[in-house]
Amino acid sequence: MKMENPALVELDGAAGEGGGQILRSALTLAMITGRPFVIRRIRAGRARPGLLRQHLTAVQAAAAICAAQVEGAELGSTQLRFDPGAVRAGNYRFAIGSAGSAALVLQTVLPALWLAGAASCVSVSGGTHNQSAPPFEFLAQAWTPLLARMGVKQTLSLLRHGFYPAGGGEIIAHVEPVAGLQGISLLERGPLQDMHAEALVAGVPYKVALRELESVLAAFPAAGQTVIELPMEQGPGNALLLRVVHEVGCEVFCGFGERGVSAERIANGVVQAARRYLASPAVVDAHLADQLLLPMALAGAGEFTATEASAHLLSNKAVIEAFLPVSIALSQCQAAVHVRVCASG
Ligand code: AMP
Repeated sequence: MKMENPALVELDGAAGEGGGQILRSALTLAMITGRPFVIRRIRAGRARPGLLRQHLTAVQAAAAICAAQVEGAELGSTQLRFDPGAVRAGNYRFAIGSAGSAALVLQTVLPALWLAGAASCVSVSGGTHNQSAPPFEFLAQAWTPLLARMGVKQTLSLLRHGFYPAGGGEIIAHVEPVAGLQGISLLERGPLQDMHAEALVAGVPYKVALRELESVLAAFPAAGQTVIELPMEQGPGNALLLRVVHEVGCEVFCGFGERGVSAERIANGVVQAARRYLASPAVVDAHLADQLLLPMALAGAGEFTATEASAHLLSNKAVIEAFLPVSIALSQCQAAVHVRVCASG
């Protein structure tokens, strides 16, 4: 996908949803296409704009893997220029140094390694179960299996959990390279096959997990349930994960324990999210939708139905279309949004 004398891509980090995803997708696409980019007003839509540790680690990881020249890679920076070199498969270790999401750093660099011609192993330490990011189980049970259907060969392992604010978790990804990805069509999810709730507690009373699971069970009596008590030193932390499996794929809804917020309230947030999804005919929920778009664009084809056209999905579409010769069309299809990726020109 590398281009000769590629043109600079200019991005406005305040556009659309205005978060870190604009930067992360730009890093991924620059690594893969060889196109340099400049981004201004990084994360202008967020309470603490500019590069936080997670974003800076994503920049450093991407730069290390493709020997990029980078300007503006500092904490708090609101502008960055990234000139990529050649992607090198290999063994890498990156540490965020906070509870910033290890999953989001991995999602930034893995697509370039899927296509890198040799095997890679990437370890990222930081948060593995935190707000506003995919928890490990989402990556492993929802995202990775759909990627596998597109030809991606990656396996993920959770070495240690990391919760906010301590972090200290670690995820390892092993990647076998492939020549290219194939488009898939995800239009109907098929029958519901399984629902399972998992409550994780680390240095938090066991009773919290039981109360969370009781609330999930009151809403979904057929759901399976598991309590996972983690070593004290991985905490304090608590996460509730609800896996919803249909014939064509899996979704993972999550909530995280917070001081002053009851176990029932955490569970209620998870239950409501799952109910909204189950009431919709869509195959993928909002988060999976925005995370599926880039791999599908790399395949140059594919389609899916999503519960909504989220701000993340629309911002990601704009970044992808700035880098790749694809067009992404969105249309309403009964109570879902139909997203279709096609090669353009
Ligand atoms: P940003 O807010 O721009 O840093 O992007 C956050 C990313 O995390 C987006 O791709 C979201 O879809 C994803 N995300 C946020 N919350 C969740 C969640 N609960 N489950 C899965 N993915 C999530």
